[in-house]
Amino acid sequence: MLRPVLGSARVSRAGGRVLAIADFPKDDCFGETPETSTRDACATESPESGFNQRCNCAFLHDFLPVRRAIYPGSFDPVTNGHLDVIERARTLFDEVIVAVAINDQKQPLFTPDERLAMLRQAITIDAVRVAPMDGLLVEFAASEGAHAVVRGLRAISDFEFEFQMALMNRKLDPEIETIFLMPKEEYTYLSSRIVKEIARLGGDVSAFVPSLVAEALAKKFNPELGNVAAVI
Ligand code: ADP
Repeated sequence: MLRPVLGSARVSRAGGRVLAIADFPKDDCFGETPETSTRDACATESPESGFNQRCNCAFLHDFLPVRRAIYPGSFDPVTNGHLDVIERARTLFDEVIVAVAINDQKQPLFTPDERLAMLRQAITIDAVRVAPMDGLLVEFAASEGAHAVVRGLRAISDFEFEFQMALMNRKLDPEIETIFLMPKEEYTYLSSRIVKEIARLGGDVSAFVPSLVAEALAKKFNPELGNVAAVI
């Protein structure tokens, strides 16, 4: 059994990275164990069980490095598929920064401000920040102290481009890892492009996007309904 040692912390490292901090009893972390904590689980080292023990000690978070990932994209507009990827990323990382590409070659339907505002309203989980990104992804990641880039992978058709981009980013900055996450099956056919096409033709997109996005799309394609800004 792991013998708790009140008031001592031990940092274990591998290749310069902090893996874990041990040895606090769950209920006795200098009396600082929070009732509820937004980051209430951290891996602790145990000689018997490896790195899988959990504690909810606020004190330890002063030592643990924040695992931060960037989820970049156009988000023109955000769909339920994007939100699914964000939630999955949050189970792996302490913080996720959703980076909205500003200088997008794709000639987006929504302005950067509209895309940022829709994302901010649509994301309801904690420790996710939405930020504009102008320039190289690896530079943005480094400036935010992130070591991982998250991308969504839906089908084989995504693979070639994503593979190329991941390897290029690795060449530009070997410290940054790209991680691919698959959404729920029901979102694998979903893309911002298809959603825009359906909305443009007057179809119902409410099953694919948050309601404010469905409303914004309707207004974008039918200005008589009002201004997008009124929705977001
Ligand atoms: P980009 O222009 O970078 O492709 P997108 O907003 O289209 O921007 O997509 C951002 C990321 O989200 C990409 O990795 C894309 O593969 C992923 N993605 C988009 N739609 C979905 C979805 N329905 N399910 C999972 N991942 C998705």
